[in-house]
Amino acid sequence: MMRLPHFRFHAPRELREAAELLAGAAPGEAMLVAGGTDLLPNMKRRQQVPKALVSLRRIAELRSISNGDGYALGAGVTLSEIVRHPQLRAACTGLWQAAAQVATPHLRNMGTLGGNLCLDTRCNYYDQNYEWRKAIDFCMKKDGKTCWVATSSPTCLAVSSTDTAPALIALGATATLVSAGGSRRIPVGELYRNDGIQYLTRMPHEILAAVHLPRLDGWRSTYWKLRRRGSFDFPVLSVAAAATFTADGAVEAARIVLGAVSSRPIVAVAAADAVIGQRLTDDVIARAADAAAKPAKPMDNTDFDLTWRKRIMKDIVACALRELRGDDVREMRRTLSKMSL
Ligand SMILES: Cc1cc2nc3c(=O)[nH]c(=O)nc-3n(C[C@H](O)[C@H](O)[C@H](O)COP(=O)(O)OP(=O)(O)OC[C@H]3O[C@@H](n4cnc5c(N)ncnc54)[C@H](O)[C@@H]3O)c2cc1C
Ligand code: SF4
Repeated sequence: MMRLPHFRFHAPRELREAAELLAGAAPGEAMLVAGGTDLLPNMKRRQQVPKALVSLRRIAELRSISNGDGYALGAGVTLSEIVRHPQLRAACTGLWQAAAQVATPHLRNMGTLGGNLCLDTRCNYYDQNYEWRKAIDFCMKKDGKTCWVATSSPTCLAVSSTDTAPALIALGATATLVSAGGSRRIPVGELYRNDGIQYLTRMPHEILAAVHLPRLDGWRSTYWKLRRRGSFDFPVLSVAAAATFTADGAVEAARIVLGAVSSRPIVAVAAADAVIGQRLTDDVIARAADAAAKPAKPMDNTDFDLTWRKRIMKDIVACALRELRGDDVREMRRTLSKMSL
């Protein structure tokens, strides 16, 4: 049985207190824990070994969902709370679909939106127990020097595997980060950098406090995910898309975001440009799907055959756009989950 290492545990009730605890800790000494569904297994595998944990679970202000000029979701809102929210489902369907496909109901009951956005990057050579990793002399992401995926790579290529980030980026969401020194608000897309080790732009002493969605009147959105087991699994490819339409059915504005193909979610700008001003005919969708597949450079460090994953990317983008067009996609979703068995 894998055991947790020893650590000090703090359970503040105020966000300010949590920020002060982080600010007072030596670099690398303290980590935040929300639901613990990502961090605690990582600690058992000694991938992350903080000396202290600052729990966010008792901080009431992180648990609120409010709707003023768009929704504001506290970082401590659980994924189940999002899934159980009918108005969120209607207003931000893509986010709802992403949250509903994270892990299992038990994990969604514990797992939070903030934890999902700050989820560690994943790789076949890293998501292993300590003995396994020791047997290959570890790797650059933790305790080693070499990247076993690309031995000449100066950076780690571990994969961004958060389901909700692509959906939130497609919906134009922003995030508030709070520290003892103040707060700042950034687009969710700017929370990430393309480095499997330093994958967040969040400073170590900052807490992701809330996510803000703009008013989404007229926006349609969707989220598609490829994974091995339809019942639960991390994404190995995902597509979030959102668009508004003119009265005559042309696309007015669009965002298409790819997940699990890089160390950060990738905004497929050329794919969105290919649909803006156009009706979503099969030809337009095919052109956008081609354009979306270009910036995606998945590596051979997650599940499934790499060439197959690259090939199927276009099909998944096309499925997402067909759903935005208003097609009945239930059969396509069933086919995708069979393909991933
Ligand atoms: C079997 C299994 C299957 C899973 N499947 C999926 C899946 O399909 N899709 C998916 O996306 N995830 C999956 N997960 C990962 C995880 O369950 C979810 O991502 C969950 O939402 C993480 O939230 P949490 O609150 O438990 O995060 P935690 O484990 O508490 O934290 C995760 C990371 O975020 C940091 N953090 C947490 N909250 C904050 C905050 N407010 N501000 C700054 N940093 C913060 C922590 O320090 C830590 O580094 C799976 C996990 C398991 C064990
Ligand atoms: S991509 Fe390379 S450095 Fe990063 S976790 Fe995988 S093997 Fe390690």
